[in-house]
Amino acid sequence: MFPVKALQKLALYNAGACWTTLHYNCKPERSILVNWENIDTVLLDMDGTLLDLYFDNYFWLHFLPERYASHHECSLEEATSWLKSLSDSLHGHLNWYCLDHWTEQCEMDIHALKEEVRHLIRFKTGTSEFLEFLRRMNKQAILVTNAHPKAMALKIQSSGLHDHLETCYSSHIFKLAKENDGFWAALQSHADLDYSRCLFIDDSLNVLRCAQREGLPYIIQVLQPDSTQPPRSPSEFPGVLSLTELITA
Ligand SMILES: [Mg+2]
Repeated sequence: MFPVKALQKLALYNAGACWTTLHYNCKPERSILVNWENIDTVLLDMDGTLLDLYFDNYFWLHFLPERYASHHECSLEEATSWLKSLSDSLHGHLNWYCLDHWTEQCEMDIHALKEEVRHLIRFKTGTSEFLEFLRRMNKQAILVTNAHPKAMALKIQSSGLHDHLETCYSSHIFKLAKENDGFWAALQSHADLDYSRCLFIDDSLNVLRCAQREGLPYIIQVLQPDSTQPPRSPSEFPGVLSLTELITA
C-alpha cells in the first residue's frame, strides 16, 4: 500500500500539540504515538477490537446457515440467502445484535448455538499485552459493546476478559446501537465520563463516526478485526493492525 521504508506522515491528530502524531509505514515499523498523560479512560469495543472477529464471522456465515438448513429442512443456499436478507434488513439497528430477535426470527435458540462453538472465542493478537499495559499505567479500561448482554457474558467468561476490565456496558441497556445518534450522549450521562480524557478504540467506521459526532476527541480504528481476513483500508481515523502499536515504553 505504501512504499517500503518510506515513512509517511498521514495525519497530525487535531487534539493539541502533545497528543498524537500518526505515521504510517510498512510493517513492522508502523506506529502511533499516544500521549497517555492526556488519557484516564480507554473505551474498548469487544468483537474485532479485543476479541478476534473470526468467531462471529464463522458463526453467522458458516455455522448458523448449516444449522438453519438442517433445522428447517432447506438447502444451504436457501438458508444463507434467508439469513442474509434478514441481516441486511436489520443492519445499523440494535436488533441486528439482539440474540432474542434472531432467536425469534430463526425459530432456533441462537444463544445455545453460540455456546456450542464458544471454544472458538479468542483474544486478538496483542490484546493481553495492551490490557496489561493499561493496568500498569493505571488507566481505566471500560468495555463498550453492541453485543447482546448474553453474548457479552459468554464472550467475557470464555476469553477471560473479566480479569482486565473495570466495567462492561452492552449498548442494549441504552436501547441504542453504538452507531445510532444519541448513544454516546446516553453513555456519558449514565457513566459520568469525561470524554475529553477518554480514548475510544473500535473496528467499525460507522461507530467511530458516530462517536466523533457526539464529542469523543481521541479515536483509533482497528484495521484487522478478523485475523483470517486481510486488513481494511485506512480511514480518516488513525488505524492500527494490533493494539500493541499503542504501547509506549
Ligand atoms: Mg467491533
